[in-house]
Amino acid sequence: MTTAYTFVPSPNHVYPDHPERPARLDILEPRLRSFNAELIETKPATRQEIETVHDSQLVAALEKACRDQAPGIIDHAPTYITNTSFEDALLAAGGVITCTRAVLNGEANNAFAIVRPPGHHAEPERAMGFCLFNNVAIGARYALANGLERVAVIDYDAHHGNGTQAAFLNDERVAFLSVHQWGIYPGTGWIEDAPHARKRIVNVPLPAHAGDKVYEQVADRIFAPFIEAFKPQMIFISVGFDAHWNDPITTLGLSTAGYLTLAEKVVRLADEVCDGRIVFVLEGGYDPLNVANGAEAVFIAATGKGSLDAADPNPSEEPDCESRINEVCQWHGF
Ligand SMILES: [Zn+2]
Repeated sequence: MTTAYTFVPSPNHVYPDHPERPARLDILEPRLRSFNAELIETKPATRQEIETVHDSQLVAALEKACRDQAPGIIDHAPTYITNTSFEDALLAAGGVITCTRAVLNGEANNAFAIVRPPGHHAEPERAMGFCLFNNVAIGARYALANGLERVAVIDYDAHHGNGTQAAFLNDERVAFLSVHQWGIYPGTGWIEDAPHARKRIVNVPLPAHAGDKVYEQVADRIFAPFIEAFKPQMIFISVGFDAHWNDPITTLGLSTAGYLTLAEKVVRLADEVCDGRIVFVLEGGYDPLNVANGAEAVFIAATGKGSLDAADPNPSEEPDCESRINEVCQWHGF
């Protein structure tokens, strides 16, 4: 079992007082060498690879804005750009492609792309939500362009993966599942978002404080039948550590132990349906300690080695989400 990872910290993609900042990775970085995983060198994505997901006009406009208008804010999220952001975003997408290629070639059994800026809010025609290019969607399209016929993306960042959903809304080669806090940014991701694509585009909106118990039920009752129905040949995970109870910008309730359980469950699903081919992709997570502990949980699940040091149980009571989970299962026939 070998696990590969890429690391794209983008130190010059930074903006005053913005939560999506290089310091997110500061506690994780010195721990990376202890994870029994192999660092592989990232090449930037090519324009052609970016344009498998994004409109060429968006790519050109972002490049020009980074050259002529940076540093600056480009939307109300707020999403920012600096004069290195275009190259940083190419390298972040390249970090996912590099991991995908390593797993497709059999150089690694699985991989983790630790990259920023994040990607899952970026839609084909617009950058948004701290995201410039949709890294995970570009990785999925790379896998499809290199021999695979079906891939799945599971997104358990705290926010809805609207950009990934938009990219694959009408692409029957890709199944997409997002579990997220309902009522926060970006406001999309209700159960009935994609009535034409039941079982393939799946949204699990959760109330505030949903935590380890709820997520375990979601994994068992929704992730499992979703993967078993679609039978992907590779699974991508958009993993954001902002669903941790201590994240500064959301109010969900996962602990690090809950993140480990989730990662172990998706690794097991990949073992069952696609020879263990799974690529984790970092999205959000705004407390550097949560990011380090959560990434450690991913490496423990991916390598099958090590154990968790962090003990950070959620101090809040979890809501009962039985009826919400039943509603999602009924809508999709799971
Ligand atoms: Zn998020």
